Amino acid sequence: MRQHKLALCKDHYLEWVPEQVERAIQKYHMFSHEDRILVAVSGGKDSLSLWDILWRLGYSVDGLYIGLGIGESSAEGLGYSDESERMARQFAEKHALNLHTVSIPQVYGESIPAIAERTHRGREKPCSVCGLTKRHVMNRIAREGGYQVLVTGHNLDDEAAILFSNTMNWIPGYLVRQGPVLEANRAGMVRKVKPLCRMYEREMAAYALLRGIEYVYEECPFVEGSNTIYYKEILNKLEFDRPGSKINFYLTYLQAKENGLFAPLADTELELLHNCPSCGQATTAPGECAFCRMMAKGKKP
Ligand code: SF4
Repeated sequence: MRQHKLALCKDHYLEWVPEQVERAIQKYHMFSHEDRILVAVSGGKDSLSLWDILWRLGYSVDGLYIGLGIGESSAEGLGYSDESERMARQFAEKHALNLHTVSIPQVYGESIPAIAERTHRGREKPCSVCGLTKRHVMNRIAREGGYQVLVTGHNLDDEAAILFSNTMNWIPGYLVRQGPVLEANRAGMVRKVKPLCRMYEREMAAYALLRGIEYVYEECPFVEGSNTIYYKEILNKLEFDRPGSKINFYLTYLQAKENGLFAPLADTELELLHNCPSCGQATTAPGECAFCRMMAKGKKP
């Protein structure tokens, strides 16, 4: 790990990664051993490794898998979503852990690409529909299940790419909100945290490999050509030439935030939240929330 000027053997590496994750949990006051935690698992290396680490650290942690209905399963093999679900189930069974599963096609009658098609929201790339749906479902399951905190497997590469995008486009609202913890200071919103925010993607891939965690190798077919991938490639080039650039970029941003570089959200903005009359979740405008409006759009009454 050139960025840390550190080289470890397998045994020490498998100790080092959970130690780093625990440090981030403590530093950002993410949760305690008394909390009930829900981790969103996609079947990929980051979320399954995170579940493994939290379980090894002795936290009370259940999983949530959201089936997006992406990719067709056939005699030749499983499609992207079915294979991801298989990996999540396999991990849960192996460690006798509790996994909630929500199939979007079964619960809402349509897959993510079909919703994108019907609503004309990203026919080529259904990512905005996917993101909105996942946020809605994750919050709903966490609330209904009485979990104190929702945990996602965003790693440093994800966070640095988002920060790069928000900086390149100067999106102040996103720059204020981005961070390892999103507080539950809105009615009906569950606290969200990212314990892997200081771990490089390569470090997590190495952890999964050395720990023998089976995960879905294939990426979602819609990820290709995305802005996030483009920004990650640029940051990887920078990291190759100047090891530590990524973590420095992210941590100095967090430090600048702590030093008051960005004004916090006004209290009034938080108070102006309403409850969606259809699903009961918090929304910024009166009336139905963005998810319920999207689900109703283009449907016959
Ligand atoms: Fe969803 Fe887009 Fe990610 Fe695929 S690439 S899982 S469609 S957000």
